[in-house]
Amino acid sequence: MKTPEFIRIRNYIDGSWSDPEGAGTIPLYNPSDGCTIGEVPLSTAAASTAAIASAHAAYDPWRRLPIGRRMKFLFDLRRAMEERREELAVAIAIDQAKHISEARGEVQRVVEIIETACSIPTLIQGETLEQIGANIVGRVVRQPLGVFCGVAPFNFPALVFGWFIPFAIGVGNTFVFKPSPQSPYFMQKMCEIFGQIGLPPGVVNVVHGDHVPTTAWYEDPRVRGICMVGSSPTARKIAEAAGRAGKRTMLLGGAKNYLVAMEDLQWDVFLENYLNSCYGSAGQRCLAGSIVAAVPEIHDELVERIVAASRKMKIGSALDPDVHVGPVISAEAKARIEAAIEAGVRRDKAKLVLDGRNPAVPEAIKGGYYVGPTIFTGATPEMTIVQNEIFGPVVAVMKVRDLDHALELIRGQEVGNGACIFTQSLYYTEKFIAEADVGMVGVNVGVPAPHPYLPFGGIKQSLVGTDKAQGKDGIDFFTQNKVATVRFTAPAAGRHQASCGKDVAPKTGAVKSCTAS
Ligand code: NAD
Repeated sequence: MKTPEFIRIRNYIDGSWSDPEGAGTIPLYNPSDGCTIGEVPLSTAAASTAAIASAHAAYDPWRRLPIGRRMKFLFDLRRAMEERREELAVAIAIDQAKHISEARGEVQRVVEIIETACSIPTLIQGETLEQIGANIVGRVVRQPLGVFCGVAPFNFPALVFGWFIPFAIGVGNTFVFKPSPQSPYFMQKMCEIFGQIGLPPGVVNVVHGDHVPTTAWYEDPRVRGICMVGSSPTARKIAEAAGRAGKRTMLLGGAKNYLVAMEDLQWDVFLENYLNSCYGSAGQRCLAGSIVAAVPEIHDELVERIVAASRKMKIGSALDPDVHVGPVISAEAKARIEAAIEAGVRRDKAKLVLDGRNPAVPEAIKGGYYVGPTIFTGATPEMTIVQNEIFGPVVAVMKVRDLDHALELIRGQEVGNGACIFTQSLYYTEKFIAEADVGMVGVNVGVPAPHPYLPFGGIKQSLVGTDKAQGKDGIDFFTQNKVATVRFTAPAAGRHQASCGKDVAPKTGAVKSCTAS
């Protein structure tokens, strides 16, 4: 696959490419070989303000567009993404270094989200209650709010675009989006697509940089809501600033997910899902399994089997189709993960049964940021390797007494994104679904990511606030309710003269409570 010569990331504001004035740049790396492949502007708050002004100007004509015509843009967006599917997947595999097979899956998932958003004319429909009183009807209408702003994490540059933008603009809002400076290339391609499909200028604006451009969002009265997917500390910072400014927020935070292995699991199902969950995206997924809780009957066999299977994982470039585990996002992330492994050995005194540090990779990609599958056993709840989100291919195996013990450990976590159980028992399944203190549960699946028709999000510190992404929740977040109370009375005889422009209002008498008959 051919990679571009030098990627110069640019802002996309008001339907045009621009370079933020007075802004510095930071290098863009290819994590697969550590080479600099481009540069990313560090936009100032002024660039964000210009994007908000464009989104604000675009809002009124966009929301007034007949809903079918807004949907046509979503259909066109979907079609263009399908036509450029491979190019988009390669863009993700280059700077985010998600393995190309997973990058294709991410693009496919966004296509499915847009398909779901294409049902907005049905999903956005309000409600009517007749006969609240004599000839009085109550009607709930769902309306857009205005300009929304959002930031994405490095690990899902496409998916998070999908969670925010199709729903936000489909219902009639406009958007200012800030991708992660570590993986901006996908959105550069999407901006080309916005131009290609003729999306009206200002409906979607993209501003690149670190947190600085977001500082313009809070006090600007034109911004009605802020959404973010990233770590829990970032979610809390945004929640505080947005709360002070009275903005609505959708903030999805960090995670640490259990895979619970019961004595009646099916080994082939468990192993396949274990490998995907713990090492897919090199463990950099908010739904990645990173703690395996196994009951005593199978604990030792499980350790033997996962170590053997993990040793077979091929590590290498995200663009190599034969590879199973690609690099992590940056040299800093690699160093942080290695330090977490060291803490597991020295501070926690857990047993390191598979050490993924410094894995063997071909000479040509030696400069890449590689950490191979790593497994600790003898883990206990107070250890750093159990408490901290390491966000790499590092797994802590714990022996638990039974399902109640596993559920107690899950309840004790500060975060609550996902948890999975591997079992054939209906009792274990239903008990786990009922009692696992997380937002997304998997049964015999390792990554319990809900389909786009359904809400996506955790609980506790994995979701700061209440609103989740996609599905009906996505519609709720990006719309506001208005309730109309309508009294209708028969026009007085001879006074129904609307066509000649005269007063047509019949006398209605004194104002009454709408519940009066
Ligand atoms: P991060 O919190 O470092 O950054 C996320 C985004 O916020 C980036 O665009 C960053 O530039 C921006 N940002 C950083 N500080 C900010 C601030 N003070 N104000 C405004 N914006 C700020 O996260 P990351 O390292 O890019 O992503 C990994 C994290 O995201 C992990 O914790 C992972 O669990 C989480 N994540 C969660 C979900 C979910 O669904 N809950 C999904 C994907 C990733």
